[in-house]
Amino acid sequence: MEMFNNDGHLTEQALQSLNTGHLDELCRLEAAEHLSFCDECLLRYTAILEQGELITAPDTLKPKTLAELRRRSLRLFSNRYATAIAAAGLALVLWSGGVFGALIPDKTQPPPTPPSQQEQEPLFAEADKLVKTMNDHLNELLKLAHKTEQDNGNNQNNIYNRE
Ligand SMILES: [Zn+2]
Repeated sequence: MEMFNNDGHLTEQALQSLNTGHLDELCRLEAAEHLSFCDECLLRYTAILEQGELITAPDTLKPKTLAELRRRSLRLFSNRYATAIAAAGLALVLWSGGVFGALIPDKTQPPPTPPSQQEQEPLFAEADKLVKTMNDHLNELLKLAHKTEQDNGNNQNNIYNRE
């Protein structure tokens, strides 16, 4: 059985087998080690655990509860974006306001004079790079969230297929 996807995350099959206890000891260790540092797989595994309980729940409860689960995992991801965006925004504000520089005063130099236009340009280029890097990270996060949403959809289908 394939334990890991090409992207280095645990496969759906690995997580399901871990849940049902159908992994040998080495695979279980590998899975547990990955789950200890990978939030994404931990979230997927938690969803599987919660859905496992739902299988015995009355049929009428399932769609509603699954929708709630999907909503909750999306909200968890949204909260993480919000935190990341706030942190990045704050860093930009502090940095462009010169707070970082002011925190480390250079006593050997006379008081700083306002930077000339030429001195500022590398700073702007640096800020552009920072914003671009931030956008790349956010895109990665959005892809992850989208993938999780799809996975949840697939899990829902699996449950219905099993009945
Ligand atoms: Zn992972």
